[in-house]
Amino acid sequence: MKIRVLFVPLVLVLLCAPLATRAQDKVDLSQSQMPSVVTVPTEALPSGHFDAEAATKAYLAQIPVAARARSDAYFEGGYWLLLWDFLVAVISYWILLHFGISAKMRDFAVRISRFAFVQDLIYWVQFLILTTLLGAPLNIYEGYTREHKYGLATQTFGPWLGDQLKALLVGLILGGLLVAFLFWIVRRLPNTWHIWGAIVTICFNIVFVMIAPVFIFPLFNKITRLDDPKITQPILSMARANGIPAHDVFQIDASKQTTRMSANVSGFGKTMRITLNDNLLRRGSPEEIQEVMGHEMGHYVLHHIYKDILFIAVVTVVFFSLLRWGLDRCLARWGRSWRINGIGDVAVLPLAFLLVTLFGFLFTPIQNTETRTNELEADMYGLNASRQPDGAAQGAIHLGEYRKMSPGPVEEWIFYDHPSGRRRIYNAMRWKAENLQLFQDQLPRPIATEQTK
Ligand SMILES: [Zn+2]
Repeated sequence: MKIRVLFVPLVLVLLCAPLATRAQDKVDLSQSQMPSVVTVPTEALPSGHFDAEAATKAYLAQIPVAARARSDAYFEGGYWLLLWDFLVAVISYWILLHFGISAKMRDFAVRISRFAFVQDLIYWVQFLILTTLLGAPLNIYEGYTREHKYGLATQTFGPWLGDQLKALLVGLILGGLLVAFLFWIVRRLPNTWHIWGAIVTICFNIVFVMIAPVFIFPLFNKITRLDDPKITQPILSMARANGIPAHDVFQIDASKQTTRMSANVSGFGKTMRITLNDNLLRRGSPEEIQEVMGHEMGHYVLHHIYKDILFIAVVTVVFFSLLRWGLDRCLARWGRSWRINGIGDVAVLPLAFLLVTLFGFLFTPIQNTETRTNELEADMYGLNASRQPDGAAQGAIHLGEYRKMSPGPVEEWIFYDHPSGRRRIYNAMRWKAENLQLFQDQLPRPIATEQTK
C-alpha cells in the first residue's frame, strides 16, 4: 500500500491531538455533579401511606437541576454519535471501494506472499490501520474530548492513546485470524459459506468471551481479589444464601480511565466471575454495593451470559444470510468497477463491513431491548437477594451521571440498554412498598454517612 493513502488521515489525527489534550480542564463541573451521599427522603420512609410514585419523585428531586441537565445532554449526545459513527464507518468503507484502495491493498498483499491465508492477513493489517485512521478524529472526540468535557474521564491523552493502540493490536491479531479463516471457508465452500461462516464466528465469539477476563481485560486494567472483609463478608454471605459457589469477589481499577461506577459478570465456565469497579467501592454506600452485587448475581443465576451467547448466535446466522444476499447483489452491480474478483477475494472486505454496519445500525433497538430485558430481570433479582431498595435508588442516581434519568417510552425502547434511572427507582420503591415490614426500624437519617473506603 502506498504511504500516501495513510497521509491524510494521519494529518487529521495529529491536528486533533493537541485539541484533545487541552480539552480536559475547561469546564467547572462541581455545580453539576450527582450528590455523592443520597439520603432516604421522607416520602421513601416506611409509613401507612407509603406511595412508590411519591417516593420515586422524592428521590429524583435530590438531583440538582444542573446535574440533570448535564447528564441529559451527555446521554442525548450519544444518540447523535450513533448516527455519526454509522456515517463515518459507511463513508470510510465506500472510499476504500470507490477509489480502488481496497483492490490496491489486495494487490500489495498478493505481491508479498503467494499463500492466500497470508495475503488475507496482510490485507487485514492494512485495512484495520487505514479504517482506524479514517475514524480517528471522531474516535478522539467521542472517547477522549467529550468524556473529559463531561468529567467522566481520568486519563491524559498519552495513556488514552496507549490503550487505543493496545486495542488495535488485539484487533489486528484476533480479527486477522478470524478474517483469514472466514475467507478460507468462503473459497472452500462457495455455496454454503454463510452457514459455516456463521458457525465459525459463533465459536470464535464463545472462545473470546471465555478468554477475555483472563487474557484481554488485564491488558488494560489491574484486576485483583478484593480482600476487605467489611465489603466481601456480606457479599459472600449473600452469594451462599443464593446458592452461588463464589469464594472471591474481584476488583478492577477502572478509575484509571473513568469516574463511572459499575460492576459486571464476565467470562464463561471456569472464567466466570463478578467484578466491582473501584469507583463503586469508593463512592457507593454498603447498601448500594450489596444491591449492585445482588444485581450481578442475578445475571449469574439467570444465566444471562449463556442467553446472550445464544441470542448473538441467532443474530449471527441472520446477519450471515443477509450478508450473502447483499454481497451477491452488490458485486453483480459494482464488483467490476471496484476490481473485486468475486466473493472469495479479500478486497470485498470493506463491502462486507459496510453491509454488517448497516444491519447493525438498524438492529440497535432490538439489541438494546434484549440487553435491557436481562438488566430488568437482574434488577428484580438484586432487590430480592439484597433487600436494599434504597441502595438501588442511590445506585440509579449515581449511574445517572452518564445516563438520562427520565426518558420517554419510545426513547427508552430505542436507545437504552438498561432500564432508565427513573424506572429503576420506581421498581425499587414498588418492591419496598410490598416489603415495608422489613424497614420498620428505618429512621429518617442518611443511608450512608461515610464512604466505605
Ligand atoms: Zn447488569
